Amino acid sequence: MSEAIPCKSCGHPVSGLYCTACGEKVLTPEDHTLKHYLGALLNAFTFADSKLWNTLKAVVLRPGELSAAYMDGRRVKYMRPVAFFFLANFVYFAAPLFETFNTSLHSQMHYLGHSRWVRAKVEEHLSTTGQTLAEFTALYEPASGNNAKLLLVAMVFALFIPMLIIFFRKRQYTSAYVTVAFEMMAFHLWVTTIALGLLFGLMIFSLRALDGSFAQIISDEHTKWPVLALHFWVTIGIGRRFFGCTWPGAVWRAAAMLFGLQLALSAYRLLLFAVTFWQVG
Ligand SMILES: [Zn+2]
Repeated sequence: MSEAIPCKSCGHPVSGLYCTACGEKVLTPEDHTLKHYLGALLNAFTFADSKLWNTLKAVVLRPGELSAAYMDGRRVKYMRPVAFFFLANFVYFAAPLFETFNTSLHSQMHYLGHSRWVRAKVEEHLSTTGQTLAEFTALYEPASGNNAKLLLVAMVFALFIPMLIIFFRKRQYTSAYVTVAFEMMAFHLWVTTIALGLLFGLMIFSLRALDGSFAQIISDEHTKWPVLALHFWVTIGIGRRFFGCTWPGAVWRAAAMLFGLQLALSAYRLLLFAVTFWQVG
């Protein structure tokens, strides 16, 4: 492979195994063997793919490392934060039992900052169509469950804005804040939603088998504390590793990000209602 040949993708002369202009690999006869093909297929779908494993480990145990590596140009070891987020989103979407980001019509109408507006929209809709609230709810709920998963990427951008304010001037590029918002949401999907959901599901299941009354012990009231702990874990980690904050700086910013998270959730729920209402109304 000493003689330069034009790259198949961009035409740049290539003398090694990879194009120096676009990164395309020069295929060798070995790349076309069935063994190589099956190996690549296996890598793409299992944890044998060390990139996925490295990324998962870094995000869970050392939050902020993935985004720091990406922004600093160490991109070979890990998956791209955006790709890692969409993989989590896919798993969340495929498993019907996780409903963390969904919000019932009842909550939308009664417990949120925008509930007064929601009630007005729903009442107006009921009086013009003659539907009962129960009929409308039956249409609304499944659509909302689906949209909650499809609109999750909106949560990333809703998180990006408070991050930009709270970690103001800690990173040079705006893209750094988008990157770390993707990492934070990926953490909350993999750990706070999927892993914690499975853990609590398993606990409730085994407690029920033991004695029905124990199942009542685990309610939203109790899941609040691990969620809070996980928020501080991921946000302090990001403050330390990604933004280079001191310990006290990372702690007060993580506390401030609790409000940021609340704001992002409110914006997300408003969007969720608006899209679902427009869809089924
Ligand atoms: Zn090329």
